[in-house]
Amino acid sequence: MKAAFINNHGDLEQIQFGELDIPKIGPNEVLIESKFSALNHLDIFVVRGWPGLKLTMPHVIGADGCGVIKEVGSAVTDVSEGDRITINPGISCGKCEMCLSGQQVFCRSFSIKGEHQWGTFAEYFKMPEINVLKIPDAYPFDKAAAAPLTFLTAWRMLRTQANVKPDEFVFIHGAGGGVATAAIQIAKYLGAKVITTTSTSEKIEKAKELGADHVINYKEMKDYSKYVFIDLTKRRGIDVVIDNVGQTTFPTSVRLLRPGGRLVTCGATTGPKAEIMINQIFWKQLEIKGSTMANQGEFREVMKLVLDGKITPIIDKIFPLEQARDAEKYLNDANKFGKVLLKID
Ligand SMILES: [Zn+2]
Repeated sequence: MKAAFINNHGDLEQIQFGELDIPKIGPNEVLIESKFSALNHLDIFVVRGWPGLKLTMPHVIGADGCGVIKEVGSAVTDVSEGDRITINPGISCGKCEMCLSGQQVFCRSFSIKGEHQWGTFAEYFKMPEINVLKIPDAYPFDKAAAAPLTFLTAWRMLRTQANVKPDEFVFIHGAGGGVATAAIQIAKYLGAKVITTTSTSEKIEKAKELGADHVINYKEMKDYSKYVFIDLTKRRGIDVVIDNVGQTTFPTSVRLLRPGGRLVTCGATTGPKAEIMINQIFWKQLEIKGSTMANQGEFREVMKLVLDGKITPIIDKIFPLEQARDAEKYLNDANKFGKVLLKID
């Protein structure tokens, strides 16, 4: 099969395109013929590698994908050949105490597709049966591939970790990112008032189309925390901040929060080290929570909203599979709005 893979860790030049063997499935797995894959920053981290990550090379990258079931394992009962499906990229053991209590994200062997096992940037990939979700005939494959990782991440952050209530102020950094485009829509669905930031007038319009109530151009207004406090929230402060930018935004996130406010972080794309004032945390009695991926129940809840059309994955650009390297460079560098996809013919 054709696939995008690495033979060594390093920069994005390491991404190769060529022929690999089709994966063999176990009794509880299904083989999927790919239609679309979606890119995530995780792919770039896997290409670079990190201490302790030991992969058998070659390694196929990619966490999100969708397609048609081509083959089912002997113990598979709920899906069959020919079904149109998308996937939950979070894989867990399914039998530990955490998995059995529905808290798959706390499973000791939790991993993301494409992280420790071969990913989705290929003509075929395999998944455990429990990780596939049938999609309606009328639902387009590109959106079905674009949604899962970012929507389940944003759903757990806003719905579970922050428990956003109607009319609360939710602040989301960087409207153009995949998690942010999902988070804006989910926060609006939960009834919140959304304030977000971005860097161009074109992206301001797009963020408003997604439902954002206020969009700040952070390049034109470098110190916007006073404006948010006085003008936008009328001296209330922000109830919930969603931060996956990290180093460059974290101190601002802490400053924006009202007393008793909640900060949820799911990533640090600009770096993991931030200086924060501890007295702001105890004076304002803030909650700072981490979040990563989501449980199977959360995945199914948010995907129901996606497949019913209540919230919609935003696609920035689609590349053919053979240009996976260029697509990852585009994800890394471009001033984009929404998800970057690979189309598999
Ligand atoms: Zn487990």
